[in-house]
Amino acid sequence: MPELPEVETIRRDLQGEVVNRKIKTVEVRNGRTVRRHASAKQFRALLEGRTITAINRAGKYLLLELDDGSTLVIHLGMSGQLQRAKNAKEAKVPHTHAVLTFTQGGQLRFVDPRTFGEVFVSVAPAEGEPRLPELAHLGFDPLEDVMSWDRFWALLASHHAALKNLLMDQEFVAGIGNMYADEILYAAGLRYDRRSDSLSSQEVRRLYRAMVETLAEAVKRRGSSLADQQYRDLFGEIGDYQGQHQAYDREGEACRRCRGTIVRVKAGGRSTFFCEDCQV
Ligand SMILES: [Zn+2]
Repeated sequence: MPELPEVETIRRDLQGEVVNRKIKTVEVRNGRTVRRHASAKQFRALLEGRTITAINRAGKYLLLELDDGSTLVIHLGMSGQLQRAKNAKEAKVPHTHAVLTFTQGGQLRFVDPRTFGEVFVSVAPAEGEPRLPELAHLGFDPLEDVMSWDRFWALLASHHAALKNLLMDQEFVAGIGNMYADEILYAAGLRYDRRSDSLSSQEVRRLYRAMVETLAEAVKRRGSSLADQQYRDLFGEIGDYQGQHQAYDREGEACRRCRGTIVRVKAGGRSTFFCEDCQV
């Protein structure tokens, strides 16, 4: 499942490819992709004729800003991909659910085999109303919203939650999923089940630094592509960070820090990988 580093990689790709392009036509091939809208027709009407002015991101959501103040929001879900096509004649892969065609030529295609992803238009807010009410539930963005350690400590201490659950809670911090939560906790030397209100000030600092540095490094390496997952960038290329993983998907392998063994526990339908010896 794409997490913050993969979505940020695609955001940067989109910036060079679709900004200042005008949307000529929109084709919806699977209604489930636009399920927030009353109809595909309504979705199309909000987009056709609009020009994309900027690409932003909030957690795992891509925000394509439009010239009328509205925003095209894209969530890749479990298996979503965006593909750039030079023209309409380029063959469409299976599960291509939505296609934007630009006036200047070329297309942007949304592909999503498992259909947990979605696209929708958040209309321009009325005067005095907040932007993007659909995303109001999201917590802070670990790369965009820099905060002091004291503030981060206060946020952690206001919950009595297992650290991994809290890192994956999009209402607490937006953009982290199963894979990067394991990598961040490994880098911080903290167990997945440590209670968030039990950390010393030093541990809070280690966790904050691990979160920011792990995600920034993964963005630099264009995200992680795993054998059983679908992540590809806008040009169909895989990421380069999977080779750097220290904990995730390394069950039975040696810990690179202490030579102990990485173990896996299963809880709530997902796996957690960690070192029993150097994560406390
Ligand atoms: Zn270890």
